[in-house]
Amino acid sequence: MQILRVASEAGESCWGAIDGEVVRRLPDAPYDSHLQPEGTLGDLSELEVLAPAEPSKIVCVGRNYRAHAAEHGAEVPSEPLLFLKPPSSVISHGAAIRLPGLSSRVEHEAELALVIGKKSWQVSIEDAWDSVLGITCANDVTARDLQRSDKQWTRGKGFDTFCPLGPWIETGLTEGDVAGLIVRCRVNGEVRQESNTVSMVFTPAYLIAYITQVMTLEPGDVVLTGTPAGVSPLSPGDEVEVEIDRVGTLRNPVVSEK
Ligand code: MG
Repeated sequence: MQILRVASEAGESCWGAIDGEVVRRLPDAPYDSHLQPEGTLGDLSELEVLAPAEPSKIVCVGRNYRAHAAEHGAEVPSEPLLFLKPPSSVISHGAAIRLPGLSSRVEHEAELALVIGKKSWQVSIEDAWDSVLGITCANDVTARDLQRSDKQWTRGKGFDTFCPLGPWIETGLTEGDVAGLIVRCRVNGEVRQESNTVSMVFTPAYLIAYITQVMTLEPGDVVLTGTPAGVSPLSPGDEVEVEIDRVGTLRNPVVSEK
């Protein structure tokens, strides 16, 4: 099933499930339950799609594909290299990525994102997939110059609009399916990144088990699983797409803040 959040006529948000060309209404947020759609919200093409999660935190992993670590001359870490993006960085499918005046090099990072479905603390690798509601597309937008000059990554990863998510959550994939998906990034239609998730250094289940030894993952939290090789700078006027086979395509325009 594909689950998404859309803007209601009253200007609020509600959850829905895609059924062909239309979106059926879900009675509540889809966490930790098996909700049945009730009624119809409208045609998918006419609804305003919101980011498919309202995370309390976005937990990310750096250098989780060997080829991406190599393109930065970095070693592959022996344990996951975790960092956070703030919830204020989240934008939806179609919203603009704003290039901040403080940076002269902002890059795309196409990533597979795990949306957490239930409160999770100290889960085992074997049980970790039970914590996942589903998969969405993410762009870990990065001010590469600030990431390098600051040494740590809060500023370079944390600007408003630096975490596009969406357009929806695919809930039908198994842990095995997610070990063999193509993650792709296009800028203005040209492929810049393309890799199979089988090339991840640490699997999604390993990452969830590792993260939950440190912090509780809450329903709606998002885990970004790292980016493949091929990151490149974005310019005003670009259109950047993150595509994951069997999930969907997240598309965002790029504008200058200046
Ligand atoms: Mg990243």
